[in-house]
Amino acid sequence: MEIDKLGKLMKDCGVVGAGGAGFPSYAKLAGGADTLLVNGSECEPLLYTDYYLLKTGMPEVLAGIRELLEALGISRAFLCIKEHTAKRLRLSDGETLAEKVAVKTLPDVYPMGDEISLIYQATGRIVKPGCLPITAGVIVYNVETVCNIAAACNGTPVTMKWLTVGGDIPEAIVVRVPVGTPVTDLFEKYGITVPEDHTVLDGGPSMGKIIDERAVVTKTTKGILILPDETEAIQSKLLDAKRSVARAETACCQCTHCTDMCPRALLGYPIEPHKLVRTARQAVEITPEMAITASLCCGCGVCTSVACCQEISPKAVIDYYKGILAKNKLKYISKEEPKAEPEREYRMIPSERWAKSLGVGRFDRVPVFRGEDREFSRVEVRLSQHIGAPSKAIVGAGEMVEAGQRIADSAEGLSLPQYAPIAGQVKLVTEKKIVIDRG
Ligand code: SF4
Ligand code: SF4
Repeated sequence: MEIDKLGKLMKDCGVVGAGGAGFPSYAKLAGGADTLLVNGSECEPLLYTDYYLLKTGMPEVLAGIRELLEALGISRAFLCIKEHTAKRLRLSDGETLAEKVAVKTLPDVYPMGDEISLIYQATGRIVKPGCLPITAGVIVYNVETVCNIAAACNGTPVTMKWLTVGGDIPEAIVVRVPVGTPVTDLFEKYGITVPEDHTVLDGGPSMGKIIDERAVVTKTTKGILILPDETEAIQSKLLDAKRSVARAETACCQCTHCTDMCPRALLGYPIEPHKLVRTARQAVEITPEMAITASLCCGCGVCTSVACCQEISPKAVIDYYKGILAKNKLKYISKEEPKAEPEREYRMIPSERWAKSLGVGRFDRVPVFRGEDREFSRVEVRLSQHIGAPSKAIVGAGEMVEAGQRIADSAEGLSLPQYAPIAGQVKLVTEKKIVIDRG
């Protein structure tokens, strides 16, 4: 299939990066790459979504890879998985899965799922700071995204989402549910209760976001985790920039551990969390050159949860700067190729240690596989499940819709359409969501 045709199908079917920030997948398609990486590193503790997808849906994964290789004219693809996943799947490094497709095992360390780290680990190439992977000749898609691309080639839009439901609950599960399923309905269906003094996350314990009872499953939800408030995973998310700055004023000893351990700094990126903390406490004045380096942070949390022994969150300080940069559409871009630090290999954090540091190691167990479950009576399809302009509703309240029917068009520019995950009646349409009741 031609690249333009594939891109159109991916856009028309609403395919978005299923494991990350929600970048519309069609926008990543471009000529000039020589390597396709399929990211199955599943770096976050407690998540087993990609593992089960690979275990039960390898033919779909390979079909998606085949379409991408053909459209992009790429001669090699690697399925990138961590050593422990490879062991569970009985795959080995270098093993051929199909023509031009081989397994690439990654060390059991955190973070590996970050595109920049993944590309370096799998190919030895470093993406120039602020540049896209394509500039290093690489295109990266998550495992589930590749499955959704295979489905898009048959005209099937994204209406379902695989996710792990886990944490401090008796039985963790991996299940596929309609996009827009309210998290409270999901819990009720599977008899899950959130104990007192626990918090619910959308995503993993490292980079997931705290959600409340209004949350719904989106196209980017890889997991829903219930974790005790006292865990570092939750505490680190409650440390806001203000409190961190206040603590930094008295407690930051400028030991530089946060910079020494930063995975991006270890790849030669010009980011120095300890300096950004110093500017936040007004020990030195922030310069635009220094502030803009905050945009190179991948948000992994290593500086906060492992490196700093003074309970300061360099990440919260950096997030504050990142917010200002994003509002002003500013980011660091360099034409210089960085060099990885020789110490990098010894400073990466073993996955087990990372899980323990976050206080979640005790909840780590392989979930029970529940397969697909479409039996939910209500969905709330968010119109902004992707980076870019929100989708535009094309249905009105009271209208009956079929499962798979288009209910919102993409807007101008970077955007995606939305489809009804269940058949039923449209109950509510706002600028932010479309609610459908099975009736
Ligand atoms: S690790 Fe903590 S104490 Fe050390 S420089 Fe960074 S913020 Fe300051
Ligand atoms: S969160 Fe901290 S360790 Fe991770 S990339 Fe950002 S500054 Fe570096």
